[in-house]
Amino acid sequence: MTTVEEALRLIQEEQKVVFDSESIATSKALNRVLSKSIQAPLALPSFKQSAMDGYALHIGTGLNYEVVGEQKAGDANTFELEPGECIRIFTGAAVPDSANAVVIQEKINRFENKIEVKKLPQVGQNIRAEGTQIKKGSFPLEKGQVLNPAGLGLIQSLGIKKVEVYRNPRVSVIVTGNELLPPGSNLSEGKIFESNSLILKTALNQIQIEPKIITSVPDRLEDTQKVLKKAFANSDLVLISGGISVGDYDFVGKALQKLGVNEIFYKVRQRPGKPLYFGKKGNVFCFALPGNPASTLSCFYVYVLPLLSRLMNFSNYGLRREMLPIAHDFQSSEPRALFLKASVNQGKVSILDHQNSSMLISFAKANALVYLPENGANIKAHEKVDVLFLPDLN
Ligand code: AMP
Ligand code: MG
Repeated sequence: MTTVEEALRLIQEEQKVVFDSESIATSKALNRVLSKSIQAPLALPSFKQSAMDGYALHIGTGLNYEVVGEQKAGDANTFELEPGECIRIFTGAAVPDSANAVVIQEKINRFENKIEVKKLPQVGQNIRAEGTQIKKGSFPLEKGQVLNPAGLGLIQSLGIKKVEVYRNPRVSVIVTGNELLPPGSNLSEGKIFESNSLILKTALNQIQIEPKIITSVPDRLEDTQKVLKKAFANSDLVLISGGISVGDYDFVGKALQKLGVNEIFYKVRQRPGKPLYFGKKGNVFCFALPGNPASTLSCFYVYVLPLLSRLMNFSNYGLRREMLPIAHDFQSSEPRALFLKASVNQGKVSILDHQNSSMLISFAKANALVYLPENGANIKAHEKVDVLFLPDLN
């Protein structure tokens, strides 16, 4: 059996598959990674702008200026100011070439069409010169940059409507089990409503991946093989839930073997998620996740997310990790490593009740996992523990 650290290392060591690029609308590119640097077709700002509401002056000798007009944001620039003249101006409005400073409105006294400034401004004061943020022809965002809302706004402010990004991995989700029924069905005895496909789909959606194929398959070797064959032909990553333990009706391992998938590891000394499988066929990666819903999701966050993040060219792989004090004593005689659903509140972490891998209730309320390495835990309140933050808004 593999240790947690060894399993993570084996995933990390897998050679990265480089995906090709695609051109997509800037508005759809949140969290995508640039495969080509952005070149600025214009300067930002693209003209000399007022940074304040006030008066644009052609600085003369004295403190008195004649107001010869008004310039609002959006107005074309028409003024030619002589020394000693000014115009009323507003934030974002074009500053005439002949003006060399803007005085804020709080720092003047106005008498009809004249103003008196209390103090002469510095040349260039409160003016955003053309190109101070970005020069025309420069590369403000480079290949490899992850696009956040500010990045998208910046690209849009350059008038660029499409961006070149790495294509997202194609991910398939396959859930196995004779007992599974889709929501809305009549729940006959022995059956359960299937939940792992929604768990995996939405966890993938959190990193902007929409699974290509989502299929449910009964516990039969031929069916499992058939569905997996199609998934491997159409995916970069195949995620399977259930059927990977040692029961008589667990056919995923056999099906993967028959399809010629190369096992990289199977079984990790951890709780939850001991029967976790990781393999690869050609360029297609595969995780078989234990079917208990909390195991499926825990393994997704701890193992699948780092691989996906790397395939997607993110600079941080997987969950954010921090050592934080625990709010209470915690004991466990479990020799395997533990991933415990936890809640971090005001810098302190509490382990939640109902840690069983068949139970989603603690996960539904958690914003973090606590990782405790192998060989049992005997932790006293205030000691620091290893916290992995879940990617959500809690
Ligand atoms: P398995 O890993 O197939 O042995 O399944 C372990 C447990 O997880 C069983 O109680 C299954 O009924 C349950 N389970 C497996 N797949 C799902 C699923 N897609 N949705 C909800 N529960 C599941
Ligand atoms: Mg099963």
